[in-house]
Amino acid sequence: MTTGSKVTDLLAIARGAAEATSERVMDEVRAHLAAIVENSQDAIVSKTLDGIVTSWNKGAERLFGYPASLIVGQSILLIIPPERRGEETEILGRLRRGERIESYDTERMRRDGTRVAVSLTISPLRDSAGTIIGASKIARDVSARLAADRALRDSEQRFRSLVEASGAIVYNSDAQARWRAPNPGWEAYTGQSFEQYRDHGWATAIHADDRERVMAKMASSVEHGVVFETEARIWHAPSSTWRHQEARAVPMRDTEGTITSWVGTATDIHARREAEEALRAADRRKDEFLAIMAHELRNPLAPLANTLEVLRLDQVERPQQREMLDIMRRQVGTLVRLVDDLMEASRIARGMIELKLEALPLTAIVESAIEISRPLIAERGHQLNVSLGNVALMLRGDRTRLTQVLANLLNNAAKYTPPGGRLEVNASHETDWAVLCVRDNGVGIPPEMLNRIFDMFTQVDTSLERSHGGLGIGLSIVKRLVELHGGTIEVRSEGRGSGSEFILRLPLAQGSAEQERTSARGAAPPSRRVLVVDDNIDAAQSLALLLRTMGQEVHVAHSGLAALAEAASIKPAVMLLDIGMPGLNGYEVARRLRAEPWGRDIFVVAVTGWGQEDDRRRSREAGFDEHLVKPAALDALKKVLTHATSGGAGRPDLATNP
Ligand code: ADP
Repeated sequence: MTTGSKVTDLLAIARGAAEATSERVMDEVRAHLAAIVENSQDAIVSKTLDGIVTSWNKGAERLFGYPASLIVGQSILLIIPPERRGEETEILGRLRRGERIESYDTERMRRDGTRVAVSLTISPLRDSAGTIIGASKIARDVSARLAADRALRDSEQRFRSLVEASGAIVYNSDAQARWRAPNPGWEAYTGQSFEQYRDHGWATAIHADDRERVMAKMASSVEHGVVFETEARIWHAPSSTWRHQEARAVPMRDTEGTITSWVGTATDIHARREAEEALRAADRRKDEFLAIMAHELRNPLAPLANTLEVLRLDQVERPQQREMLDIMRRQVGTLVRLVDDLMEASRIARGMIELKLEALPLTAIVESAIEISRPLIAERGHQLNVSLGNVALMLRGDRTRLTQVLANLLNNAAKYTPPGGRLEVNASHETDWAVLCVRDNGVGIPPEMLNRIFDMFTQVDTSLERSHGGLGIGLSIVKRLVELHGGTIEVRSEGRGSGSEFILRLPLAQGSAEQERTSARGAAPPSRRVLVVDDNIDAAQSLALLLRTMGQEVHVAHSGLAALAEAASIKPAVMLLDIGMPGLNGYEVARRLRAEPWGRDIFVVAVTGWGQEDDRRRSREAGFDEHLVKPAALDALKKVLTHATSGGAGRPDLATNP
């Protein structure tokens, strides 16, 4: 054998081996493909051009419910719903022309007759000569996708209906908050056309006074990527008025978190704003009504209180009369307190309370509050325990107001505890706070009332409590006054019958106590010539009576002009002058007095129903030396008469009648 023939032989062997290998590889590939087809989730079938099924994989068995053994050799029409048979004719026609059909959405029928939504991809099958002999068909179950599409459509529809029902204008803008698409809602509301708001910005529909603020806010939201929220007056074309709108927009972000657009709503809230304004106006009218009513009630109370004082000072023979006088005095006192509460409530509601702050020892407040409440506590036979702990505690506050606060809590404790109860006042301190607890073992407060108890006009309305007759405003005043002092108040009670505890926290002062002011209480005033001026004859006469019993020489006038004439002739040392009088009012009388050489040294005191800071300022400006609120209490009158001699220096603070 030659070398050459050996080589040829080897080559032939190698070629044969290679052919055998590629044949094996091809077999493997085919087996793989068959396995892929068999195991595919999709239904993969083939059919002849007459529509006879020639292969049917597991996916098809699963999807249509026919095993391969039953359907291979049968017509594909078995799985086509009767009304869709025409489709098959068309499909077969296209296949014959060699066309491929892709993602054809239709419906097929399972063995059990139910329908299934499928997406079909059908390709012609050719033999080795290239002749079309049938078709392969992949059917994918798309019912889940269709259901999701439908759910999305429904959800969008719901969203649209919701927006329409809400009456809000929905808008969509780019990342820079520019509107890119027409917004019929906005156009109908503002009368702006798409071109206008696209080219010039929608802000031209905002009221000029609001525009800058809204745009600044929008710019800041865009810059920081935070929710945009604002309220502004927007031009309302149908009514040619500006109406309040509330706008809100949230940023939409892509998966990286970058803002791609903004979606927002604009809602007309004009009616709500108007209703709120009407409510506020009604509330203001109520406050004004309270103020006027309290003032009007005070007028008849003043002479009543005065005459009662006079009668009491008289030598009364019959013990019965003394008793009756005491009853009347107490009842008038209650009326005065109720009217004071009303007045105070309206002042607080109108923000007309001003505090006179000074450094105060806590003990002083506790003492004076107890002094005020002692008669009621005694009357009801309660035992009162006071524990002041650290006596050196100093507060910065308004003495009268803080006393009023504590006295109110003590009075309540006395009122709402059945006779013979136990009351406690404890003082302590927590870091920068003075803490005052007023505790009783009385009727208690039901849990559902605890967080309403400080609201105006709230009362736990049981017959026992009602019998104490209040207006339900004391605690609201207390709370407001405490808050004005930068303090807090809370209430605790285990419920009905288990007593109540009010805990007051007030900021401690840094500095030291201011010198106690000297009190004129008790000292008899020197006798002076006094001119009382009031157009209310009863008020004038009763005050005159009271002053006379205090040893004063009293003259009376009932009008501004009469007062000036009388003053010119008798040259009084003191004038008690009503302010609200027809003709010449008190301010004018004071001004004219001060213009006369003989009138400069008269000590002129305003005696009026109006006791607010503003009223006091006006009376000071008109030349009054002092300002008393009707009915002027005995002590306040004594103070005035005592200090009238000292030419105004070191005058007592008579701001509030004790
Ligand atoms: P008033 O006492 O005039 O009704 P307040 O505002 O002082 O008004 O009190 C409101 C209500 O709170 C009272 O009517 C009463 O029901 C309840 N209350 C206040 N203090 C106490 C207390 N110490 N114990 C039980 N109930 C109280």
